[in-house]
Amino acid sequence: MTALSTLKSFSKPLLASLNKLGISHLQALLLHLPLRYIDETHITAVRDLRIGEASLVEGIIVHAEVAYKPRKALIARLEDASGQLTLRFLHFYPSQIAALKEGNRIRAYGEVRHGYFGYEMVHPTCKAASEKTVVADTLTPVYPTVAGLTQASLRKAIHLAFTHDTLQETLPASVYETFHFPSFAASLKMLHQPPADADLQRLENKSTPAWRRLAFDELLAQQLSMRKHYARRRSVNAPAFAPSKKMVSALLKSLPFALTQAQQKVAIEIERDLTEPHPMQRLLQGDVGSGKTIVACMAALQAIENGWQVALMAPTEILAEQHYQKMLGWLTPLNISIAWLTGSQSKKEREASLQSIAAGSAQFVVGTHALFQETVQFKKLGLAIIDEQHRFGVQQRLALRKKGEPEPHQLMMSATPIPRTLSMSYYADLDVSVIDELPPGRTPIVTKLVSDARRDEILQRVREACLAGSQAYWVCPLIEESEALQLATANDTYALMQQAFPELNIGLIHGRMKPAEKQAVMAQFSTNSLQLLVATTVIEVGVDVPNASLMVIEHAERAGLSQLHQLRGRVGRGAAKSTCILLYQNKLSETARARLKVIYESNDGFAIAQADLNLRGPGEYLGTRQSGVPMLKIADLNRDENLLNIAKNMADSLIQQHPQAVEAHLARWMGSAEDLVKV
Ligand code: ADP
Ligand code: MG
Repeated sequence: MTALSTLKSFSKPLLASLNKLGISHLQALLLHLPLRYIDETHITAVRDLRIGEASLVEGIIVHAEVAYKPRKALIARLEDASGQLTLRFLHFYPSQIAALKEGNRIRAYGEVRHGYFGYEMVHPTCKAASEKTVVADTLTPVYPTVAGLTQASLRKAIHLAFTHDTLQETLPASVYETFHFPSFAASLKMLHQPPADADLQRLENKSTPAWRRLAFDELLAQQLSMRKHYARRRSVNAPAFAPSKKMVSALLKSLPFALTQAQQKVAIEIERDLTEPHPMQRLLQGDVGSGKTIVACMAALQAIENGWQVALMAPTEILAEQHYQKMLGWLTPLNISIAWLTGSQSKKEREASLQSIAAGSAQFVVGTHALFQETVQFKKLGLAIIDEQHRFGVQQRLALRKKGEPEPHQLMMSATPIPRTLSMSYYADLDVSVIDELPPGRTPIVTKLVSDARRDEILQRVREACLAGSQAYWVCPLIEESEALQLATANDTYALMQQAFPELNIGLIHGRMKPAEKQAVMAQFSTNSLQLLVATTVIEVGVDVPNASLMVIEHAERAGLSQLHQLRGRVGRGAAKSTCILLYQNKLSETARARLKVIYESNDGFAIAQADLNLRGPGEYLGTRQSGVPMLKIADLNRDENLLNIAKNMADSLIQQHPQAVEAHLARWMGSAEDLVKV
């Protein structure tokens, strides 16, 4: 890779601007592709201009003035042999007034519309011209840019990049020709400098062979890089755990239920991984309520029986607390000592936990993000379990992994199923186990979409359900911009509910409460001393109260689909028929309607996740904002699913038959592709 800073022609300010675009080396600059194009390859006569179309015209300025009515504007009339056209500028500099002086020959590019005096262009791009000025012989690219970096400088920089890089082919011709892709060099040339007769529409909707070639290259780099990660993992040591002889069967005997077939199947997959002397990295997927916790606990026992410690990390205090209570119930009879670690413990409690973790007397440690902080030292961490893995960033998971020596095994759990295309790309180096069956005796949740105008009816329904011995959640709307506002809404709703239902015991739970308070409220709700729980979206993950069979979600249109599905999964955990009512504000946008329809029609987490992906893009899944994982820049998993399939099939044979090509390919795409892996 060639750093741009080593090239003489790149000035400091230019380097700084490019850096803001995430471009620091030559290869990345060449792969910075245009958003769209301007056609400056021919001049259109004023007479032939068409409304709504962008065109290039050339002529003499026959009149120019700064007008003050109806508002201040620089107005110039340009004339060619066929007619006249108005150029209008609402913001302008003195230099523009000078450039548009009467008698000057000007070339203007812009979209044509109807103005006061016939055709006009508002804020066209203007250049001085002479009779001899030639037209561009390629379409002019328009790039994504940042403030302070003009299109002209960016174009120049990319032109320069072409002269510095040999655009060498990384793939054997036999590979790309099979798919009728152009060469790498031809693809880049096509996209940065398309010939005048190129199909503008195909260029702009990214369906040209050139774009597809580069998208393929990017996906292939991602696949190759992931295979390297996989190979690394197979070469690293981890403690091998013999299958449990006593503890797992003792635990299973103590349970009031038998494992489902699906649970048994995934338990065996995990057990086998743990016997290997290489770190497991397995994702355990299962819809809400499918019973992932018990499977994780079985894995934990295998590690503990072999004399190693286990850490279980959850994304919220409530969930960590629930896991802690559950583990106490399951594992205390087996004489296993469990420690608890969160950020909000008292200093004394925390010290005691840290001490027992470091000494190894704590065999099982349950906690939140607090677990991977520096002060936490494990004596012998053999297995790290991460619940609701999509809530954590890559760095956090890596930090937890670093707590063991040799590297601990890692089991990640998620109820948010990863759509197939994502699991083939970003997550491809993980092994995946799926629990595809719910424990028996659950009745499916009925979902209803109800307009907020019928709120009174719904309140009545809540009251009836609670009086009949059932319990209900009332979920307050997500207010993304302000946690304070969300809190206020929850408080108001709580006050209103207390007024409306004097005969019910009502609780309130939100993210700002102290853990002990939250815990107390949850305990009361679990034991049915509270019938109605007003909550913010903090109850989204994990919380398990089987007697709760009614949930109302306010402003459902604001929540993500997978989030709604998770929320909804808090009910339907017992034998009673459960209902989830999605309240929406009357004016639903088209997309909001489409999204709510998905959640209304489907109970299948996978289908919902795929729909969410299609509607909102992969960012929501990958949590890029927290993890900093760069996204695919050229390929699009929706549009390019078939390319992803080809890249996936191609990767292995390339590694076997063309190892040098693999290295060259990764080198070109490194910096983008290398980090594309969700470790
Ligand atoms: P999730 O996969 O959403 O994390 P949990 O592990 O919390 O689900 O399990 C949901 C509930 O189902 C818990 O109360 C758990 O004890 C119970 N459960 C788990 N497995 C079974 C089973 N095989 N039969 C009956 N109930 C089960
Ligand atoms: Mg869970």
